[in-house]
Amino acid sequence: MHEMAIAHSILDLVEREAARQHASHVRTLELEIGQLANVDVGALRFALDVVLRDTIAHGARVDVAEPPGSAFCLRCGHDVALARRGEACPACGSYQLAVTGGDTLRVAGIVVD
Ligand SMILES: [Zn+2]
Repeated sequence: MHEMAIAHSILDLVEREAARQHASHVRTLELEIGQLANVDVGALRFALDVVLRDTIAHGARVDVAEPPGSAFCLRCGHDVALARRGEACPACGSYQLAVTGGDTLRVAGIVVD
């Protein structure tokens, strides 16, 4: 389950950021998980529950924003919305799409005490 590995990387980032802010506790984690990021948000929440236990972010609230995917169609030249990888261009039906957004996971911010 790769969500467990992702949860560990998130913890690394959060611990570094918390240290930089001289925080004693992380209250909220703000994550941005694009719809095309290939991350199961439910599984990630579960993994974070386990990984954050007994850390500086123990019991932190996890806010998840899921920006929609977007792509550029190489055939018709439209910028289109894309709910998942492998879908055809809604404008012309081509599968030659280059993903341009909504494919990343990042820690948008943390709220600390
Ligand atoms: Zn198209």
